Amino acid sequence: MALLEVENLSAGYGLFQALRGISLRAEEGETLAIVGANGAGKTTLLRAICGALPAQEGHVAFDGISIDTKSADQLTRLGISMVPEGRRLFPSLTVEDNLIIGSYPNRKGFWTLDKVYELFPELVKRRANRGLDLSGGEQQMVAIGRALMANPRLLLMDEISLGLAPIVVNQIYKSLPDISAQGTSIVIVEQDLNRALSVSDHVYCLLEGHVELSGLSAQIDRQALIDAYFGAAS
Ligand code: ATP
Repeated sequence: MALLEVENLSAGYGLFQALRGISLRAEEGETLAIVGANGAGKTTLLRAICGALPAQEGHVAFDGISIDTKSADQLTRLGISMVPEGRRLFPSLTVEDNLIIGSYPNRKGFWTLDKVYELFPELVKRRANRGLDLSGGEQQMVAIGRALMANPRLLLMDEISLGLAPIVVNQIYKSLPDISAQGTSIVIVEQDLNRALSVSDHVYCLLEGHVELSGLSAQIDRQALIDAYFGAAS
C-alpha cells in the first residue's frame, strides 16, 4: 500500500476544471516532483491533496485512509504538512514562534526546534527576528522548518524556489535529503526540470490539468519530458 494514493482526481474553480483525472502514488520515503508550465495545475493538485479544494471526482488516500473530507487540522494530525507557495509566515511573530506554531502535541518525533536549527543554521542568529525582517531565503527556511515541526510523514512543498537567488535555492534544496532521511515522503512542485529530476525518485509532468508524462526521474527521457512540459508531444 502506498503512503499517498491519488486516484482519478478532478477539481477546479467554479465551472473551470483545473485538474482532470490525475492519478499518482508515493511510497513511504519517496520524493515525487510535480513539474509543468505556468497554469498546468501543480498548485491546484497540492491544494486538492491537502483538502483545501474539494475534489469533483476521484479520491485521495493517505496510509490507506480516505482523506477526501478531512480538515487541514486533521491532516496535520495524521502526518501531512504543507509548505505553501509564498511561505505565509506570521509577520509579527519571531522566527522561533513561527516554528513553534508548527508543532503538534501528538506528533512528536525527530524534528524539534534544535533539529530545525541544525538543518538551517542560518536561522539561529535570526531566532528573535520577526517574519518580515527576514530575507526571502530565510523565510523559506522558516516555512519548511515550521512544516517539519509537526513531524510529517508526507511533506507537500509548493515552488520553494520561487523568487529566490540560485545560490539560496541550492542551499534550501540541500536540506531535502536530510528530510527524506527521516523516512518522510515529499511531493514537491518545481518549475525547473533539472532541479526536479535531481531531487526526486519519480516525476509527474502536468499539462492543462492532466498527467502528460510520468516516470522514474533517473530514467525518464529528458526530451520527452521537455516536450510534455511545453505540450509539444500532444
Ligand atoms: P503556476 O506555476 O503559475 O503557479 P500551476 O501549475 O501551479 O501554475 P495552478 O495555479 O494550479 O497552476 O492553476 C491551474 C489553473 O487554474 C490555471 O488556469 C489558473 O488560472 C486556474 N486557477 C488557479 N487558481 C484559481 C482560482 N482561485 N480561481 C480560478 N481559477 C484559478
